[in-house]
Amino acid sequence: TKKFVLENGFTNMPKEEDFKLIEEDLPELKEGEFLAEALYLSVDPYMRAYAHRLKEGKTMIGLQVAKILKSNNKEFTVGKYVVGHFGWATHTISDGLSTNADYPQFPYIMPDFGQLPASLSLGALGPTGNTAYFGFTEICKPQAGETVVITAAAGAIGSHVGQIAKIKGCRVIGITGSDEKCKWLKSIGFDVAINYKNSTWINALSEATPRGIDCYYDNVGGEISSSIIQRMCKDGRVAVCGSISSYNCDVHSLPKATMIQPWIVFQQLEVRGFVTKKWSHRWMEGIKENLKWIQEGKLRYKETVTEGFEYMPRAFIGLLNGENIGKAIVKV
Ligand code: NDP
Repeated sequence: TKKFVLENGFTNMPKEEDFKLIEEDLPELKEGEFLAEALYLSVDPYMRAYAHRLKEGKTMIGLQVAKILKSNNKEFTVGKYVVGHFGWATHTISDGLSTNADYPQFPYIMPDFGQLPASLSLGALGPTGNTAYFGFTEICKPQAGETVVITAAAGAIGSHVGQIAKIKGCRVIGITGSDEKCKWLKSIGFDVAINYKNSTWINALSEATPRGIDCYYDNVGGEISSSIIQRMCKDGRVAVCGSISSYNCDVHSLPKATMIQPWIVFQQLEVRGFVTKKWSHRWMEGIKENLKWIQEGKLRYKETVTEGFEYMPRAFIGLLNGENIGKAIVKV
């Protein structure tokens, strides 16, 4: 197998030199084990956010969809596709048991998606889709006619949330980092898309939300989020999904926070952080719902695909730099 191990712990933005590609022989299969070959691997912001949990010299963590090549396991049989936390490796031996206590449902045999690509099990029909579906519907509790704002809106989760918000009859405003991404958001049904790199973006947000904001799906945190929270309506809901604006810096060097508490108090906001493991027991329900919407043509997905296992670090760093539209994945 080829695999990437972490050579150096990350300081600020990860660098290609922080990873080392190594090659290793795998042992013979034991009873109950199977050998799987990676087809697509996921790169995700949590790999940076959880850097403190990664150990130097260890295989990088991550989800992949892989084809079973050999098997001594009755459930995971040859030729099937398996979705598992096998890390940044081309080949894996697994006994089919979970290696991640927070997500006991993995590894699992990929459900039948019809003609749709297997890579979707890393995105719209996997963790991304479920984070969007459960985080938005359960925490924002959107009602038809409400105004929804989403940050990192052209990313994997953001673009998915925006489309669910449209399905629920909301008015949807996406905040993202380029004009090209804004254009794409409009093409998939967002009512308004705003580039936060324009100095006037807050004016554009005020114009787009004359009655204020009912739901905010927060992927970025920091100053952008403070400005948005200050425009929330009474009884507004904030789903705090991620805070990517803080992942690549030393938390001690972050600027002093803008005061948002008065808005939380006087507008009686519900601000709720979550991790998708909260809905581990409802995993297949989320996948089913998203699959139905995709098949009905109500939900579109986009992938930014990097070809070649050796480019995993590049794809990961590109994601943190905002080079992706939709879900960032690597095709082996
Ligand atoms: P995305 O596809 O959204 O990729 C990340 C995007 O973040 C980039 O494309 C970039 O887009 C944007 N970004 C990067 N740096 C900044 C910054 N400093 N300020 C504002 N935006 C920035 O990734 P995901 O959809 O996978 O993840 C989105 C968020 O969801 C992340 O915060 C992630 O940690 C979180 N998450 C949370 C989970 C949970 O269980 N709570 C599960 C999975 C993800 P742009 O060009 O717009 O800047």
